[in-house]
Amino acid sequence: MKFLTIRMKVTLWYAFFMLILILISFLIISELSKKAMVTNQKENLTETVADGMRDLESPSSFEYFENGIYLMLYDKNKVYIKGIIPDKFSNEISLVSDYVQNIKSNGQNFYVYDKYFKKGKESYWMRGVVPQSQEDPIGFFIVNFVSKFLPIFVMVTCLIGYFITKRAFRPVRKIQETAQSIADGNKLFLRIGLPEGKDEIAKLGETVDNMLEKLERSFEKEKQFTSDVSHELRTPITVILTESEYALEHAKSVEELKESMLVINRQSNKMSVLVNQLLFFARSDNNSFVLNKETFEVLPVILEVVQEYTRLAKVEDIEISVNNNLSANLYITVDKLLFIRSLSNIIQNAINYGKPKGSVDISISQNNNYIMIEIKDDGIGIGSENIKKIWDRFYQVNESRNKTKSNNIGLGLSMVKMIMEKHNGYVNVESTINKGSIFTLYFPL
Ligand code: ADP
Repeated sequence: MKFLTIRMKVTLWYAFFMLILILISFLIISELSKKAMVTNQKENLTETVADGMRDLESPSSFEYFENGIYLMLYDKNKVYIKGIIPDKFSNEISLVSDYVQNIKSNGQNFYVYDKYFKKGKESYWMRGVVPQSQEDPIGFFIVNFVSKFLPIFVMVTCLIGYFITKRAFRPVRKIQETAQSIADGNKLFLRIGLPEGKDEIAKLGETVDNMLEKLERSFEKEKQFTSDVSHELRTPITVILTESEYALEHAKSVEELKESMLVINRQSNKMSVLVNQLLFFARSDNNSFVLNKETFEVLPVILEVVQEYTRLAKVEDIEISVNNNLSANLYITVDKLLFIRSLSNIIQNAINYGKPKGSVDISISQNNNYIMIEIKDDGIGIGSENIKKIWDRFYQVNESRNKTKSNNIGLGLSMVKMIMEKHNGYVNVESTINKGSIFTLYFPL
């Protein structure tokens, strides 16, 4: 059984149950027909005896054989008068009134029916005997049919069953072939593409296609991520190498050496920031990531972060304001470092992508479930075509412009999103190009 295909197994089971069903039906029919035949024979016997009794005028005119029934006449003392005794039937068998007996005599079975009755002044016994019939026409037909047609019937059933299952299993074969092609050739773009349907296999095909779609996308993202990381690391490494080579070979004074060291230091810092960010993602992607939660008052921490960015904002000629809508001192329990990091990333972006002489307005409020920190700028804004992509790792709307503005490399917002998810909160953005953006952080209380 192990080596058979499911198609073959289903066919065999189907044929087997079909066969059993047919045999059981035939058995039941033949039993019923046998029973009907016996009842028929017994009724015939009792009716013929009754007819014989009614028609009897005198023992001399007595008819002996009717409807296949042998009739015998006895006097009231059970002494045999007249009749025909069937072959093999012993006349010694005693007379019993009103009851069809099942008698075996000399290897042959008989039904025997005796009746005591009065005719005129005389009393008699009438006996009817019929050899039990061995032949049941329906049973005979069944045996005949089974022996002649059943093998053909089973073969036809098997063939039909095989073709039906083959048809039914065609989608499964398609799923298997697609999976095989993907495994053989790394062709993650392949799809099963079953026609739409409500049955389980169509649903399975659809689910596998969806899964392949997601796999392909995440595979592409992974590839993109690796290439982005290499790209981001290559630039500072190249600068460090050329600068150090230049310093070693051509620097003539301490000043020149210092200048080179400064460049190397800046690039090393950039690499260090990138490596730390990558480390954060690596840890966050891992399920073992644990939040280091602590309870603290929100407002002072927010004010501290804002304070840190005041100088940078001044350089860009941007004014930061904080609007506190909290009615009382509010405490939250979150990972403080990550809370600060998410807030800093959004404020830094608001300054980076703000316009000179512009403003960044931060407002803090609370509803039943969340503390909401809204950071609003009046800067370049984000087009609707990019609004979904800004959360992707390394995605920058305008890469070259962003690069010249800061050392950022497109990881800030994906980090914010990750931090919010880890806290069961979320981040929302509304933005209009050339008008500004509003980022809102929702931390659950
Ligand atoms: P980056 O390091 O480039 O700032 P982020 O992940 O923080 O990376 O942001 C992704 C991109 O989203 C940015 O490069 C920028 O194009 C866009 N962006 C983020 N914040 C703002 C904002 N406040 N205004 C306009 N564009 C923004």
